[in-house]
Amino acid sequence: MDILKNTEAMGKRIFEDLQKINFIRTSTSPEETKAAEIIRDELAKVGLEAVIEEFPVQTADIEKVSLTAAGKEWEIQGYRRSGSTPAEGLTAPFAYVQQGTDVDLYDKKGMIVLVNNGKMNEEVYERMVRYGVAAFLTWNGNVSDVREQTDLPERELRGWALRYGKIPGGVLRAIDAMELVKAQPETVTFTLIQEDVTRPSRNVILHIKGTDETEQNITFGAHFDSVQFSHGVYDNGAGSVILMELARHYKENPPKRNLTFCWYGSEECGLLGSKAYVEAHKEELKDIQLMINVDVAGPVLGADWAAVMADESLCRYVEYLSKELGFSTDVTQEVYSSDSVPFSNEGVPAINFCRFGRNGGAMIHCRHDVIDYLDYKNFGKTAAFVQEFSDRMVNSVVFPVPRKMPENMVEAIDKYLRKKRVDEK
Ligand SMILES: [Zn+2]
Repeated sequence: MDILKNTEAMGKRIFEDLQKINFIRTSTSPEETKAAEIIRDELAKVGLEAVIEEFPVQTADIEKVSLTAAGKEWEIQGYRRSGSTPAEGLTAPFAYVQQGTDVDLYDKKGMIVLVNNGKMNEEVYERMVRYGVAAFLTWNGNVSDVREQTDLPERELRGWALRYGKIPGGVLRAIDAMELVKAQPETVTFTLIQEDVTRPSRNVILHIKGTDETEQNITFGAHFDSVQFSHGVYDNGAGSVILMELARHYKENPPKRNLTFCWYGSEECGLLGSKAYVEAHKEELKDIQLMINVDVAGPVLGADWAAVMADESLCRYVEYLSKELGFSTDVTQEVYSSDSVPFSNEGVPAINFCRFGRNGGAMIHCRHDVIDYLDYKNFGKTAAFVQEFSDRMVNSVVFPVPRKMPENMVEAIDKYLRKKRVDEK
């Protein structure tokens, strides 16, 4: 089929758009706003009228964070929203508590603990609260990291942790965490002063009316924010610009069904943009037949993948289509950690397309998410396949995907969203 040949011009257009948002765009920052405006203005150039919709994000400004131990100051960042220590700092006995099991934590009341838990999981956090830990430290990166070539980002506690209570937290480099444990300090002094704040983030929303008089809707999504230190071109400037290309395609080729395109802000802080959209547009959800999300694409050393959060038959359909068109892609039925989740949580079938950097081929959430590891050719191919799939869905005579979330997916989504507290399980 020639659908997937001659995709170079498309790839080049997409790649050009990507250069326009090739800057750090963290949640609620002026740069995130700027990126939203660029997306809106690029769409306006072809006569598409997108609007920017604000939503509030609860975060915190860290005013001071420091760690003094073994007679020196250590490089440290704080956990936003984890609360503050007294202004003069908290001096307390120190312990390395490994994986934070009951055995590790039962006697650590009032102590400052270093836990081997880079992303902080719920079981460990709940235990630290239960046993009365005074403050916690985690680490980031590897012990082999070169200081000058890596960054130490702030972290943030999410709602699932905060429902157990606040414990002030800090994050060290792995190399420093190891040195700290080797130094065996009896006490350490940890200071974290922060202020909770609420700031606006933004979604960009575009509607394209279908030619049929039906209420049925297909919703496209991609997040355009990035994390600290990351230009976020792979994650997820890539999906954002593929969506822009799809919007232009449907401007040129009016769809049968209604389309909504959403570019989400603050995905990296817990899918906040898509959660806010779903919350604010509850009455639209019943009309959405399918949510098509694109999150990460473009790496030279990558492989395409479709993660289906819908009836299993959609997996088979995408597999058959990939064979029919000669487009190599994995297809699995699983929860993909992205903006499709809030929709699937409301029973909307969803599919996530991505081109994933394999075996070190691309990196997310750090300074190495740069355009050098991506190329326009792969953008063209991935986008052409997503477009072909979308055309068939958007213009189908009878909508083929069952409007029902299978039991196994409902269960997986509930688990992903941590609906049950660990102490209720
Ligand atoms: Zn992403």
